Amino acid sequence: MTLECNKIRGINLAQGVCDLDVPREVIDGTHEAMLQGFNQYTRYDGLPVLREAIASKLKRFNHLDADPEKNIIVSAGATGVFYSACMALLNPGDEVIVLEPFYGYHVNTLLAVGAKPVFVRLIPPGWKLDTDKLQKAVTKRTKAIVINTPANPSGKVFSKQELRALADFANEEDIFVFSDEIYEYFVYDGKKHLSPASIEGMAERTIAISGYSKTFSITGWRIGYCFCHERWARMIGYVNDLIYVCAPAPLQVGVARGIEKLPNSYYEGICADYQAKREQICDALSEAGLKPYVPSGAYYVLADVSSVQGKNSKERAMFILKKTGVASVPGSAFYHDDAGEDLVRFCFAKKDEVLKKACERIAALRL
Ligand code: PLP
Repeated sequence: MTLECNKIRGINLAQGVCDLDVPREVIDGTHEAMLQGFNQYTRYDGLPVLREAIASKLKRFNHLDADPEKNIIVSAGATGVFYSACMALLNPGDEVIVLEPFYGYHVNTLLAVGAKPVFVRLIPPGWKLDTDKLQKAVTKRTKAIVINTPANPSGKVFSKQELRALADFANEEDIFVFSDEIYEYFVYDGKKHLSPASIEGMAERTIAISGYSKTFSITGWRIGYCFCHERWARMIGYVNDLIYVCAPAPLQVGVARGIEKLPNSYYEGICADYQAKREQICDALSEAGLKPYVPSGAYYVLADVSSVQGKNSKERAMFILKKTGVASVPGSAFYHDDAGEDLVRFCFAKKDEVLKKACERIAALRL
């Protein structure tokens, strides 16, 4: 869709790339680090300054106790750490439960390490998790479940009650929980992000994955991390070293500076700004007759495009692009079967003027 969008110089709301400003502290911290000589390989699990900053953030924000020497692996983004974790902890043929609509990299990473994704569908409009369905998906080969909260593409934010049910399930089946929390700071309507690892009984089996691509608008920097029990951390770190050696050294320092220096108001600002962007795009979609599934978190919205011309979600996304010049992702990208054919996903992590223009064009579609 990005290629098609570029051909017509359209507005790209397809890819999850935020074009917002990087905090000054993060840029300055990186620049100074380069001048100070942080330009070489770092330890396989990241620079101490960043692991320490992450550990204090985990305590403050996620209510998790991390020893920066043992429980944190810094990697090339959340993507790098998820791949390293899958390589380290899964064997070919292991089954891993994936909730759909899913984030494509989760599924493809599992396939890349020879694991088998087993899909359990979340039920719209609230993207409810049916624990009976989870139970039915379990076999002798089930080794893990992937959770994404707040979720891409649905915007679902798991409640404490849901996470408790999930914890019971994971404990009963004795499986790993890969918890992708990259959108942890993007939560709306006064809701709070809860880390699955903070739920009783979950700390040892959870690999909590996050990073700063989204929070600091630095998707190209490739700084992510995981928090987990030292038994798993050592193994994940080993694979991380083998594949990536380390995350970019000066960028690690810049991110550490951001974590240390940015006040709470920065993170509160993200919630407020993105909630306003969410309202804007949801209003435009409603006006166009494309019913939005209003997200509670992350920065995407799934819209019902069943009224749009086309045989499937790809043709419908292309029709919308042709008529409005706004690119979206066909819903088929988020399902293993045809359940996404009536959906497309728009990303609203765009500068106000870009989003405004996109929304005007969407609203004018009026089906
Ligand atoms: N996890 C989810 C759910 C995402 O949506 C994305 C990016 O779109 C990532 C991970 C990628 O994170 P990173 O840039 O840290 O690899």
